[in-house]
Amino acid sequence: MESSHEGYENPAWQKTHDALGIKPKHDLYCPICLASKTVAALEKGQDLKDVTFPRLFIRRSRIHQVVDARIAVGTDGHKQYAFDTICKCAQCDYYCVFGVPTDLNYALKIMELRDNSNDFLVPIEYWKDEVLVDDDVREKLAALGYV
Ligand SMILES: [Zn+2]
Repeated sequence: MESSHEGYENPAWQKTHDALGIKPKHDLYCPICLASKTVAALEKGQDLKDVTFPRLFIRRSRIHQVVDARIAVGTDGHKQYAFDTICKCAQCDYYCVFGVPTDLNYALKIMELRDNSNDFLVPIEYWKDEVLVDDDVREKLAALGYV
């Protein structure tokens, strides 16, 4: 059975073929920290090259069937599937969701890798190297019992 969207490749997200499912092709930076750190640096006359901007990391991922009459039903009668990829900034705790469409077969394959669950809470092993570079974040996660 083949979905009409089979083989679709998103320009901004790549398939990981593991329980994570997808990840961005390029680093995503926290828009809140980007703005506030840029303003603070400019106010101090600092060079922006000296400022570290935190990247968003993937905290959770859910797969769902898109329930929207405007989305075309595939040739096999199945509707489009999508990842809700939840990203977080470890510094300011900003949290956002990217809704990334995928094809039926890939969605089913990833749910199988998640023990037939649509939901995947990304373990700390996936993101600790990304977020534990900052002492404040390390202290916060330790206080919360993560590390
Ligand atoms: Zn932030």
